[in-house]
Amino acid sequence: MSKKIQAIRGMNDLLPKDSDLWLAIEKIINEVLISYGYKNVRTPIVENTETFSRAIGEVTDIVEKEMYTWKDLGGESITLRPEGTAGIVRMMIEHNLPREGIQRVFYQGPMFRHERPQKGRYRQFYQVGVEVFGASDAKIDAELIDMTALIWKKIGLNNVSLEINSLGSSGSRSSYRELLKSYFNDNKLQLDEDSLRRLNTNPLRILDSKNMEMATLIAEAPKMIDYLDDESEQHFLEFKEYLDNLAIQYTINPRLVRGLDYYNRTVFEWISDDLGSQGTICGGGRYDGLVEKMGGNPVPATGFAMGIERLVLLAKEQSEKIQQQKLSLYFVALGQSAQKASMKISRDVHLALPDIVLTNDITLGSLKSQMKKADKSGADYALILGEEELKSKKITIKPLLGQGEQQLISLEGIIQHLRENL
Ligand code: ATP
Ligand code: MG
Repeated sequence: MSKKIQAIRGMNDLLPKDSDLWLAIEKIINEVLISYGYKNVRTPIVENTETFSRAIGEVTDIVEKEMYTWKDLGGESITLRPEGTAGIVRMMIEHNLPREGIQRVFYQGPMFRHERPQKGRYRQFYQVGVEVFGASDAKIDAELIDMTALIWKKIGLNNVSLEINSLGSSGSRSSYRELLKSYFNDNKLQLDEDSLRRLNTNPLRILDSKNMEMATLIAEAPKMIDYLDDESEQHFLEFKEYLDNLAIQYTINPRLVRGLDYYNRTVFEWISDDLGSQGTICGGGRYDGLVEKMGGNPVPATGFAMGIERLVLLAKEQSEKIQQQKLSLYFVALGQSAQKASMKISRDVHLALPDIVLTNDITLGSLKSQMKKADKSGADYALILGEEELKSKKITIKPLLGQGEQQLISLEGIIQHLRENL
């Protein structure tokens, strides 16, 4: 035997046993976003490297060490998308969409980051993200929170909490940055290597450090929220009022700065205690300066992204609750003409009753062996069609799980029977 081929470390397969739960979660998310008036958009999985380095910022974990970047055959530097916002902003500018009015969009798909794989942290992972362009009011920030809260409710997640913060305007942030720099400079000996490097380039990022040895130092650092400009302060106040009005609980976390460079004013994270250090299931915020930075006309913007693997991990216990139990049938057909007829009958059922799962037997075995397959399939009922039944235009329906008697019904009336009795 030759050597087994394996997937790349940190990149997962979605296996058949998990498929129903994934689809149920994705369906809930799609339905909620669509019901709030959001449109699904798709951008390429690779973009020019500059799209990401400019949007995310050179001095960030992602751009410094996590991107899958290579030169294509034409010598162009291209990158597998590590997140979705940069590509969406590029798309908005390229197609002049904000000129047409407020844009509410969402995307979904795989993202790629070269991180250390562990539970809830992978090198390819799925995100659903939402972005809004052209609205600066805190009302839209609150709408984003409202939609996510509804999604958690529909999935059945209870143990999630909301943390919010404001990063102010770029003006107020640059004076705060100086303050922070001198604070960390005074405590230089306690900084780790990463933070020392960031001291001059991006001291805010030090607040984001996951190094527990620096926890006290970070906790005692000056807080951005105490140095907000008047307009950002007002914006944050309104944001909190909208949340209060929706009865959505939150805590203010002054150290919440988010991992990407482009945020201003509102930032937020939804966190679960059940996932260890991979507890953030959704994060986002406002990024009013990004469109201009990427070469477009200035337009305010805000958004979030949620990690589907982490949602699936949390939802595993509640999976029964959200997975619609579909009626399932296994079609046993005996002999060649019954085999052919069964496929046609199946197609009629699929057409008329799209919510039923009907699996055709494809082993062509004896009654006994096909019935064994039917039992193993977990279906609720077996449909049994033999040559005799076919001749008399009848079909047998046999319950597989519960008790109940098997019934012989007319072939013609099968759809009506399924609709009315099962
Ligand atoms: P973390 O602090 O956990 O590294 P992040 O701040 O890097 O998260 P974002 O870039 O804001 O995360 O991405 C939004 C969401 O995508 C996260 O809240 C998380 O649910 C998910 N996510 C991010 N990175 C990964 C990963 N490597 N594997 C799985 N999910 C991820
Ligand atoms: Mg990260």
